[in-house]
Amino acid sequence: MENIRNIYCVGRNYALHAKELGNDVPKEPMIFAKPTHALQPATGKITVPGTIGSVDYEAELVVRIGAGYKPGMTVSDIVDGITLGLDLTARDVQTGLKERRHPWLLAKGFLGSAVLAPFQPYPGEAALAGLTFNLIKNDTVVQTGSPLDMIFSIQQLIDFIGPRMGLGAGDILFTGTPAGVGQIADGDTLEMKLTVDGREETFGPMYVDMA
Ligand code: ZN
Repeated sequence: MENIRNIYCVGRNYALHAKELGNDVPKEPMIFAKPTHALQPATGKITVPGTIGSVDYEAELVVRIGAGYKPGMTVSDIVDGITLGLDLTARDVQTGLKERRHPWLLAKGFLGSAVLAPFQPYPGEAALAGLTFNLIKNDTVVQTGSPLDMIFSIQQLIDFIGPRMGLGAGDILFTGTPAGVGQIADGDTLEMKLTVDGREETFGPMYVDMA
């Protein structure tokens, strides 16, 4: 986690999720970033500011960049690891910022807002495309996602971000959340499950502490 450099995120990358928040499906990727101070590991107690209003979970596939971007690179050339993360979002704050047409940073970049599981090696293009992931909240599956349902594929996201903002070793990319986002509350237990090539890995449990 110490070696992570830029944290890129993409908003509204699953059609059903864009719809559930009342947003149009975007015509080009909607990219934002989080400070590295937002990182916290996806295990044990996860701390969320208790004074920030409602906080939503957004479970997402996260890819790690292992090489400097050059035009024409494929996902296999540039991505060297995958994992799951939570893009925690202060939804009340975000709604206020949207109304004032301000940047999202306060709502998306607060301390602890980038919850990250350990990376596993890049599994190859086919396994990446076919993987599925889940978020389990208090023993109920609340989100299910797969790269197959993304509006912009990981390749398209790399082709968009690379030439505009740069991509280099140590950067990570949260690839968007599927439908089913909802609020977390103090005392919730969260787990994330990643299934790649039929192999299942569970991250957590995480215990939400909204002190
Ligand atoms: Zn997100």
